[in-house]
Formats: sequence, C-alpha cells, structure tokens
Amino acid sequence: MASRANLLVLLGCGPLCAAALLCALMIGPSAAQVAAPQAPASAAAAPSLAAGSNFPVASDARLAGDARQTRFILDLDKPVQFRAFALADPYRVIVDLPQVSFTLPAGIGTTGRGLVKAFRYGLVMPGGSRIVFDLTGPAKIAKSYVLEAANGQPPRLVIEFEEIDRTAFVQSLPPENRPELRSAITDANAATPDASAAAKPAAPPDKRPVIVIDPGHGGADNGTEAGGNDIMEKNLVLTFGLALRDRLEKSGKYRIVMTRTDDTFIALGDRVKVARNESAALFISIHADALKRGEGDAQGATIYTLSDKATDSDAERLADAENKSDAIGGVNLADEPTEVADILIDLVQRETKTFSNRFARVLMGEMKTTVRMHKHPLKSAGFRVLKAPDVPSVLVELGYVSNKGDLEHLVSENWRNRTVGSMAQAIDTFLAKRLATAGPGK
Ligand SMILES: [Zn+2]
Repeated sequence: MASRANLLVLLGCGPLCAAALLCALMIGPSAAQVAAPQAPASAAAAPSLAAGSNFPVASDARLAGDARQTRFILDLDKPVQFRAFALADPYRVIVDLPQVSFTLPAGIGTTGRGLVKAFRYGLVMPGGSRIVFDLTGPAKIAKSYVLEAANGQPPRLVIEFEEIDRTAFVQSLPPENRPELRSAITDANAATPDASAAAKPAAPPDKRPVIVIDPGHGGADNGTEAGGNDIMEKNLVLTFGLALRDRLEKSGKYRIVMTRTDDTFIALGDRVKVARNESAALFISIHADALKRGEGDAQGATIYTLSDKATDSDAERLADAENKSDAIGGVNLADEPTEVADILIDLVQRETKTFSNRFARVLMGEMKTTVRMHKHPLKSAGFRVLKAPDVPSVLVELGYVSNKGDLEHLVSENWRNRTVGSMAQAIDTFLAKRLATAGPGK
C-alpha cells in the first residue's frame, strides 16, 4: 500500500482517479494488449467499442514551449479524470484516462516539440485510454490538470513538462519504478510481442465479469493427503470449487470459468493462461494444506497473495510445495514460455497486486465471521499460479487436512456451504465496488 500512496503523492493525483484507473486496469485484457498504443491501430480499434457511447471525445492536441518547458494540451468535450506518471529508460510520461474517443488530426504526435519527441495514444483496454509521451531526455511533470470550459475554449487536459537531470528524474520515480529495479523488465523488452499476439478475437457478447475458480492439483497430482484414509486435496478442492461455482452462478452476475471440473492434471502456467485469456476480474485458487507428521499442528484457513518474498518460512514451504505440481504432472519447466514482455507490464502488475491484496482483505473479513481462520490468515509467497500480471489473484488454503478438526470441516457439506457463502459475499463486495467505480460517467 505504501508504494501506491507514494505514487499518488508523486503524481499529485487524487485517490478517486487512481481508483477509476485501477478499476479500468482490472477489467483489462491480457498484457499483450496493454502494449504501448500505436496511434493509428488503436485509434482504429476504438470506434467499435466506443460506438453509440458517451465517452469523452478528444478532438485536438498541441504542444507548446521549448526544451526547458513544454506544455501538452488536449481538447476534450468534457472534463476527465486522469493519472500521469514518468518512466525511465527510455524516458516516457504516461497519462492514463478513462476510455476516450480520439478524433485527433491524422499524424498528430509523430513529431514532437521541446521535451516531447513524439506521443502515441489509444484505447488500451475497455474503459481505459492512454497517452504515451516519448521524451527527449529526463523531464518531470511540473503540473498536470484539467481545465473546465471557459472563454470559448473547450475543457482541456494540460500536462507541463520541465527539464531535470537524470538523478533528479530517477529520484522522482517511486522506488519500484527506478531503473535499477527494473532490469528484469528491461531485459524482457528485447522480446517484443509480435503483432499476432496483440490481435485477439473480439470480446464475447457476455459482458459480465469473469471469475476463474481454480481447484488445485488433479490427475497425477493428488496434492496433500490425510494420512491413513483416502481423502486427497485434489478431490476436496474440486468439490469446493464446484460448490463455489454453483453459488456464484446462481446470482447471474458473473461468468464463472473453472480451470478444471474433473480429475484432470492442469499445469500451473495453463491455469494462469485461463485467467488471462478470459480477462478475468478475479482468479481464486483453492487448496488445502497439510503439515507432515512431526512438523507440529496448525489449523484454519489462510489466504495467500503473490510476493517475491515469502511472509514467513511456512508460506515459503507451502509455495514450494504447491509449485511442485508441474513437476509431479510431468511438465518441463524449461519449456514454459517466458512471460509476455511489455514495457508497461510492471505498472499493470503493481496495480493488480493492490487489487489482489484488497480482495484478500475483504475475503478474510467475510470468512472470519463463519470459518475458522489460521492465526496469521493473510500471507504472501511466490506461488506460480498467482502470476497473471493483469488478473487479481488469491490462493485460499481452506484448512489443514493434517488437523483433525479442519479435516472434519473440509469433508462437511454444512461447513462447505457456509464457507462458499462467505466467499461469495466477499466477491460481491469486492466486485460491486469495482463496477460502481467503473460505471458510466466515471
Ligand atoms: Zn495444494
């Protein structure tokens, strides 16, 4: 949360616009489509989505000033909320807007002025547009604001760039955006996704948010097992996942996609792909943990989010165990395609993380009223199945099959119904907030 707060302070932008943006990102398509927009292609793609809509229209844009101070002005038909921030290597400024219909003069942005080398714009996802400025060197956003219509002028978005040196530029970036921490992403840039990766069939007519439910393990991978009897994690979590699906489908508000509905092995990477291909609003992986004999006793449900650094050794042990799934199922990790590379993917990832954490907290708040929770119910570690950069994802360990009380719960229909109910409530709370913020007029 701290990093997001820093980012907002840096950007001088209220939480409302950030919320709108984050929501827009949440319903976004795969990261391949979040590639820096190419003006002609994206502008051409926009009308189908914008047809008959009430989206703000950007009708003209211009640059003024010199190599010390440059001003960008975008004419609009109504004020919009926005967020602007800088990126290094190469020097860029990104402006995220709600979905805007761009009717700018052809060829605009291909040549720059002052600190702006060029700019591109377009729709990057349903509900979200973006302008990317390529800078001639390090510059800061001295001011950014939206003017109401006045004196015969339409509403305008104004971004003022000011020359600074590299040190000041780098220091002005939030820590996670600084170049030295982004080497992995810079490396990934070498592998630019080709055009076909960005070309995706039109969105299905069903506009409901998609929730992907991922019952862990399956097939050759049994998951944890309760000693002495035939109870296997893969079966417990499948039964639970199907019950959660049925509950959520009843409301009619969501489209539910299961990563598996039977005893089939699914590689971790393929589970992530399901979430990404569906542009899911939420990915929930269901598991049940176990401690080995002699490792003590633990009980209660735990909710995990993705992190490079495990919260504690238990979380690390668990992530290692869950990540072994592919090896058990015979998947050669070396054959896994590398993550989709994109210069903006890190931004999306950070925002996804914020949403994953938010959902985890909402979920804990609901679950703890009906379900026994672990004494430290919120944790994070490097779970491979949570790595969709653009889909908020959590992994729920429903309890410990190694604990007698938990096991009794896990096989109880009554317990399952109550737990499914609290999860459905949390999903409603979380997504209702998102839909309200992303609704028309925002
Ligand atoms: Zn598991």
